[in-house]
Amino acid sequence: MSKRTIIPIQLAEKSYPSQQTHLESLPPLSLYIHFPWCEKKCPYCDFNSHAINDQGTGFDEQSYLDALCHDLEQSLPLIWGRRVHSIFIGGGTPSLLSPEGLDRLLADVRARIGMDSDIEITLEANPGSVEATKFAAYAKSGITRISLGIQSFNPRHLKDLGRVHSAAEAVAAIGVAKQFFKRVNLDVMYGLPHQSLDEAIADLQTALSFDTDHVSLYHLTLEPNTLFAKFPPPIPDEDLSAQMQESLLQLLENAGLHRYEISAYAKPQSECFHNINYWSFGDYLGIGAGAHGKISFPDKIIRTVKERHPQTYMQSVFGNRHGLIEERVVAQDELAFEFMLGALRLKNGAPMSMFEQRTGLQQMNIQSDLDLAVEKGLLEKDLMNLKATPLGFLFLSDLQELFLPVVSEL
Ligand code: SF4
Repeated sequence: MSKRTIIPIQLAEKSYPSQQTHLESLPPLSLYIHFPWCEKKCPYCDFNSHAINDQGTGFDEQSYLDALCHDLEQSLPLIWGRRVHSIFIGGGTPSLLSPEGLDRLLADVRARIGMDSDIEITLEANPGSVEATKFAAYAKSGITRISLGIQSFNPRHLKDLGRVHSAAEAVAAIGVAKQFFKRVNLDVMYGLPHQSLDEAIADLQTALSFDTDHVSLYHLTLEPNTLFAKFPPPIPDEDLSAQMQESLLQLLENAGLHRYEISAYAKPQSECFHNINYWSFGDYLGIGAGAHGKISFPDKIIRTVKERHPQTYMQSVFGNRHGLIEERVVAQDELAFEFMLGALRLKNGAPMSMFEQRTGLQQMNIQSDLDLAVEKGLLEKDLMNLKATPLGFLFLSDLQELFLPVVSEL
């Protein structure tokens, strides 16, 4: 099978090689802001997060907010004249920000970018008691949606996962969140060390008992370069995991939460706009340590990656170097795969017209890949809408790989 080409990292001098991409219109624009600190590092986590008391990463709220502001200003030429439809403040644990800090951050953004009046602004939060006391102030500053990293309500599993909150704190935090935010997401994990089917079901039942309108459900995975990868805990085998998944999906459906993406479930009108935009090959400006971005222009699409380490990132933006470690034009032959990577994760897929608008490609450019995907039973036959079949949804990476660019053998 062909392999995806790895494009060498190259810092561009704000000019790009000419490409044949031609976009008639630009997709909606979102803003992603990364906060790279947590109270402590969870053993399963491969996100760009650092323990807050780790001297090496030097957490200082004002300095980091200054850096974000610099980063935003240095990034503005990428999005001149465009309005932002959603903001997602993720991490790490951005609820470690003080209410004043969060208020300043949003004020800095508002002063520099036009926003929709009904903009969705999500903040990821740890469901600890300290965080919950800040929710009222966060709502006042403009946060409209909160995403709580619950993971489990079982004290044993919370301990195994290295979480810093207790089950009682999680329950209390959900209550406070619902008081101040119309839209609350609960992250729940299953396939946990020594977890039984009944325990997985009990966790989700508890999560749904709060009249929850959005759940992100993840199977615990042992990611490389994590403590769990080095010292693997005993997690449920494939059969038990499959049983868990089946039971949990049924519970979500019974509660009226439909699956709209591989891991996301929502009541009607409660879907997360930011994530849908991300999965539909929409644009997002990424600021903060390790943040990724994707921005379209009439003649090209670029991807950006910021320095991962907070200190290096801050030095770079304060030195007027944009915090970038990568800024590259997406090659023409990568666009189809990049589009399918997100769009086919969506339960309803994406219209062919969206594929054409957002990549500048035509259906005929990928016709042979489409035909093969249909022939394998992975893609629905009606190509006006690019949608995985139930089989394709089950073997999503096999379906997405069909759209990889062909690399000629040397
Ligand atoms: S709280 Fe979240 S981001 Fe932080 S270490 Fe744990 S899993 Fe990673």
